[in-house]
Amino acid sequence: VCFAFRAAHSKCLLAECFGAYCCGIFCHRLSPFCYRSCLFVALHVALQAAVYGEYTWEVFVYCWELQFHLLLLLLPYLLLAGNMGCFILCSRANPGIITKSNHASLVKIYAYDGVLFQKGVVCPTCNMEKPARSKHCSFCSACVHRFDHHCVWVNNCIGAFNAKYFFLYLFSLAATAAAIATITAAFLIQVVLLSNMMHGSYIDEQGQEHAVEILFLVQHLFLTFPRVVFMLGFVILLTLVLGAYCCFNLYLALTNQTSNEWYKSRRYGCSRRLTLQPHDRQVVYKNIYSKGVWMNLKEIFKPPTVLERKKTT
Ligand SMILES: [Zn+2]
Ligand SMILES: [Zn+2]
Repeated sequence: VCFAFRAAHSKCLLAECFGAYCCGIFCHRLSPFCYRSCLFVALHVALQAAVYGEYTWEVFVYCWELQFHLLLLLLPYLLLAGNMGCFILCSRANPGIITKSNHASLVKIYAYDGVLFQKGVVCPTCNMEKPARSKHCSFCSACVHRFDHHCVWVNNCIGAFNAKYFFLYLFSLAATAAAIATITAAFLIQVVLLSNMMHGSYIDEQGQEHAVEILFLVQHLFLTFPRVVFMLGFVILLTLVLGAYCCFNLYLALTNQTSNEWYKSRRYGCSRRLTLQPHDRQVVYKNIYSKGVWMNLKEIFKPPTVLERKKTT
């Protein structure tokens, strides 16, 4: 986002044509890296370089010697390419910035539920009536159609038009971490099996002989392949965290909720809290946007337009 000319993007014709924001002088969506926080860029590049460097120089070479299938070994690189593509698309795409020219059509797409989204609420910054399911983003300084959240990692809002890229980005990232974790774990298991360590024994400091157990194996592997074991721990952790976030996003997609709506609707889920405030009328939140699991998922990949809504009503 152009911070010097924050408000100017709505006037720019390029923004409409290329899904880019423009300050009126330069297009600011040329690269997802050029105006991202330096800390995030450094973290992103360092983590990816460290994991792929280690995978390429050690795991790939050893697995190749152990005659792992080439396609399996190339899978993390293929996933990386797909992941980077989704990252760039998600970062550069217009999430659904509401401008004066598209406001009239976007306002007709979703009905106001009367609980989370009230008719007639005007955004004080954009000076326009907020369409249902939209929210003003202070980072982007604009109202966003079907606002999900502002993602600092991709440095863009997640809205109706780039939710599919975010969805694919997240899933490909989790798949990448899972693929590297699986191959690395398979390599270490293969090393253990080939060395026949499981049936061996070791002598401790007191001179007593013990059969090899799991803890000893992990210790032994860590001393033999310290970087590989460390990387495996990191990618397993990453797989679990990303997997959980993927599940949450899948749940939101299947129930046709945005993160913003899910967060706000929790306020109406607890009846005890409502009885504490007798002056408030009892509000029961019902998600009116859900159209069944399959249609909800389809909506992520093909956001509804005004024409479609007319056809269904
Ligand atoms: Zn606004
Ligand atoms: Zn934003």
